[in-house]
Amino acid sequence: MAYGCESSPLSQAGRLGRRLQGETVLDAHAHMGSHFNYYPLPDASLEQLVGEMDRHGVRRQITFSLAGVNNDFVYGNSLVHEMTSRRPERFWPLALISPRYPELILPELRRCAELGFRGVKLITAYQGLPEDTPLLNPAYEFAAERGWIVLSHSWGTPGFLYGLARRHPQALFIDGHGSCALRGLQRDVPENVLFCTLTEFAYGVIERFVNNAPLNQIVFGSDMPDLPLAWGLGAVLMAKISDDAKRRILGVNLLEALYRHGIQA
Ligand SMILES: [Zn+2]
Repeated sequence: MAYGCESSPLSQAGRLGRRLQGETVLDAHAHMGSHFNYYPLPDASLEQLVGEMDRHGVRRQITFSLAGVNNDFVYGNSLVHEMTSRRPERFWPLALISPRYPELILPELRRCAELGFRGVKLITAYQGLPEDTPLLNPAYEFAAERGWIVLSHSWGTPGFLYGLARRHPQALFIDGHGSCALRGLQRDVPENVLFCTLTEFAYGVIERFVNNAPLNQIVFGSDMPDLPLAWGLGAVLMAKISDDAKRRILGVNLLEALYRHGIQA
């Protein structure tokens, strides 16, 4: 078996710049908004985002705002709703919240639930608080009651993430940059934890994910439009793993996990 070589159709698609066709490609980590803090993000209109997904053969994205990362998350969530509601079949929106405003967490999650959001996005590292802050406990309970996705930029330690996932088996937890999986071999990973491949793509990093974590719990993410979609996609397509493993990472794993949590793709 020639992994990542000429005989692998998916490696070849990546190397020759071919749009993926007939493949299930789902993106577990994407954003909406035309700027992030101090830098602009051109080409971030709804039409441009969907056009870029189509250009690469991505069917649907889990998406959330950039604006809410360290400032106005209510504005950011409204922007995400305005955009995703125009093409609901292409996105699963997540509500971004901040433990810096604990009194706003539940009202904002209730507002977003009524708007059809499918989960919560957390990024405490950018909000000056530790991942294990108890201020987020109401958000985990809210998410578990609804079978929601809970995606965090980082979870601190694998022990914290796995404990949370065991306490809330109804929620689906996503390690937004797969940092827990990159710490070494992961044992006894709860079934409701997924590791997103979006990281610094040093040589062999996708192979490290596959060596360290259960294959059916690794999912592709792009961080677009903050990062180019092709960048994250190429890392998976060119990895020295089988095409079957690539197909799992590119979409089959997320599809199956969402189905288990009652979210249709
Ligand atoms: Zn991101």
